[in-house]
Amino acid sequence: MSTSPSLNFAVAERPDRASDADRDAVLASPGFGQHFTDHMALATWRKGEGWGDPRVTAYGPLQLDPSAAVLHYAQEIFEGMKAYRHEDGSVWTFRPEANAARFSRSAHRLALPALDEADFLESLRALVRTDVDWVPATGGEESLYLRPFMFASESFLGVRPANEVTYCVIASPAGAYFSGGLKPVSLWISEHYSRAGVGGTGAAKCGGNYASSLAAQVEAAENGCDQSVFLDSVEQKYIEELGGMNVFLVYKDGRIVTPELSGSILEGVTRSSILELAKDLDLTPEERRITLEEWRAGAESGEITEAFACGTAAVITPVGRMVSTEGEFRTGPEGEGGPVATKIRETLLAIQTGRAEDTRGWLTRLA
Ligand SMILES: *Cc1c(COP(=O)(O)O)cnc(C)c1O
Repeated sequence: MSTSPSLNFAVAERPDRASDADRDAVLASPGFGQHFTDHMALATWRKGEGWGDPRVTAYGPLQLDPSAAVLHYAQEIFEGMKAYRHEDGSVWTFRPEANAARFSRSAHRLALPALDEADFLESLRALVRTDVDWVPATGGEESLYLRPFMFASESFLGVRPANEVTYCVIASPAGAYFSGGLKPVSLWISEHYSRAGVGGTGAAKCGGNYASSLAAQVEAAENGCDQSVFLDSVEQKYIEELGGMNVFLVYKDGRIVTPELSGSILEGVTRSSILELAKDLDLTPEERRITLEEWRAGAESGEITEAFACGTAAVITPVGRMVSTEGEFRTGPEGEGGPVATKIRETLLAIQTGRAEDTRGWLTRLA
């Protein structure tokens, strides 16, 4: 890495780690986001002092004053990445410098303090090394999901950037997202709700964006859909993204098109990796505005052959049915992923899990 870390996350190992049997039981069927490793990384920032007290300590509840600013004004950001065990037992993560850079951009937008890329990486290394036994075995899609986050922990109800901020990393074993082949999701086209607007926080990875997406998620479920897709907030015409995933359309002629970063779309690391990989797969990447009408007409004419969503958690999820108050249409084959989505997913996963050569230097060793 470019610079060396300034924070040393000293490890205070807990005496009561999970037993091998308990950990193995979790790793046999980890699900997503339900089980956490024995430790967490923490650091505290104070205005005028900067970052201090970096440590790895027992995973457990945080003490927060009821007046902690985050509980009232949502000054919070997060990241999500995965660590995979390779065949030789080593543990690697994918483009963490991109997550570190995005974390800095998100921090800036939410008026939170910057954390150096080197310190961000050091916090991941310190936690993963301490809890390395929680990284699932090699050979499948299982991983250790890493969740760095930062929030206003100062006890103060005035409205201004907090003078005390907590940085934390937790880790959670994650199972294979799909068991038995890719299964397309159905999307509800949200007409009442926008995720983000120009000048808002759409390009930052912050909890508030997720809070504002939940009512649309409820509406999607009420209409029998898995997730909702958001349109631009001005004209309600252009496709933006899902609550936590970017979107691609696949054209018959080999183009793969994703909405351009308009300021209200989150720049996914998976999205940008797919754009970079496209040429290797004889696909032509395009970033531009896409209307919902283009999607509907293209799906119906057969010019658009597949649609998929992408993000760290699922890597790639095919999109099948698209539903709105005006009716529905579908993209891609029924009940399974299309060939392009499947190929891109396999290519990315092969790099991440060490089964394919990492020609772009995308992997960083954590343990
Ligand atoms: C995290 C996130 C994504 C996906 O980003 P990745 O870096 O690929 O995981 C897409 N959209 C939103 C709104 C997100 O929060």
